[in-house]
Amino acid sequence: MLERTVFRGARVVDPLGETDRVGDVLIEDGRIAAVGDVGTPAAEILDCEGLILTPGLVDMHTHLREPGFEHKETVESGTRAAACGGFTAVAPMANTDPVADHAGVIHEVRDLAAAARLADVFPVGAITKGSEGESLAEIGEMVDAGVRIFSDDGRCVPTARLLRNVLVYGKAFDDIVIAEHCEDGSLAEGGQMHEGLHSYSLGLRGQPAEAEEVIVARDLAIARMTGSRLHLCHLSSARSVELVRRAKAEGIRVTAEVTPHHLVFSDEDLLTYDTNMKVNPPLRSADDRDALRAGLADGTIDAIATDHAPHAVEEKEAEFDQSPPGTIGLETALAAVLTHLVEPAILSLPRAIEALSAVPARILGATDHGGPIEPGRPANLVVFDPGAEWIVEPPFVSKSRNSAFTGRTLHGVVVHTMLRGELTVTDGKATR
Ligand SMILES: [Zn+2]
Repeated sequence: MLERTVFRGARVVDPLGETDRVGDVLIEDGRIAAVGDVGTPAAEILDCEGLILTPGLVDMHTHLREPGFEHKETVESGTRAAACGGFTAVAPMANTDPVADHAGVIHEVRDLAAAARLADVFPVGAITKGSEGESLAEIGEMVDAGVRIFSDDGRCVPTARLLRNVLVYGKAFDDIVIAEHCEDGSLAEGGQMHEGLHSYSLGLRGQPAEAEEVIVARDLAIARMTGSRLHLCHLSSARSVELVRRAKAEGIRVTAEVTPHHLVFSDEDLLTYDTNMKVNPPLRSADDRDALRAGLADGTIDAIATDHAPHAVEEKEAEFDQSPPGTIGLETALAAVLTHLVEPAILSLPRAIEALSAVPARILGATDHGGPIEPGRPANLVVFDPGAEWIVEPPFVSKSRNSAFTGRTLHGVVVHTMLRGELTVTDGKATR
């Protein structure tokens, strides 16, 4: 017998297809079989009146921490958090232990994800061996293993020469993407937060926006020279956005992402010394945040990525200067965007879903994700209640609880997430 599910009467928002309509979506054997009025087939019927159905979300920048840091997160716990946040695909960064700098770790992470069956996982390969910034990782071997995106995230490619080498080398392969963590170590060193009025008044050592901007400028120059594809992770400064805007106008093949926490918060939010607000790059000024919002709205910034960075409770409870940077983000990304960007009309809902799903799927080469929602396509979908209010607080589905959004009220609750026709989340709860 065919496995059938009907999402009944949802508002279907599909940035790549017919943008916004109300109807049913029939799923048959893992694929979308019909959209519109599908009648009453023998199927599991899920009433979606008043709910929004979109392509499953895609996170191109996640830290799942396995292998090596299983006390923070595992592939299973992280992909369960992803599913509960409405994601059907995530790209875990390579800074595990061992570092994903050869095909062995890539296969290990994929096998763990396949066993968990909670989200499709597209591991990111390291650019350099051990992400140490010296010699190139086994990029060819990892490309053969299906890796499309490479990053030493957590660290910047240290020299322009090395970046040039990897961008030129990467052109030999079909369309791989080099993703840069833009941070000049010599300027950023010791910085606990954004350098500005608030860092002076709090007595915390600052990390200037220029630490990011000089690398953005350098990398864009090298991308111009090589003609290669470049992706810039988690932009945080207004001038970085302007540099990307000009580079795109010039035809440089660059894409960029921004995190929900950089879109919502600013350095003023550190006044309570809340270590959950300590992130890297740091939360910058309100003007920077507003420029990130404008850049996302006009397409200068292509995608929203969580930079989900779980840390154990005792690590985050350390003194501010000892606490590792990072916030978890998979379970709050959609609601943060709906509450702080869509509700105040900074972003349209289709643009928000495009930035959370269609665009990162395209950059990752995750062709089964991101829509369009039409017959024949794999059924990777999310259904959410846009108005439902909740307060962010532990426990989380993630193993960790270091959320910058802790205590905040958000709107938007994931009701169902479907991965290849199977519900990974239904009625707001993970199914496995
Ligand atoms: Zn990073």
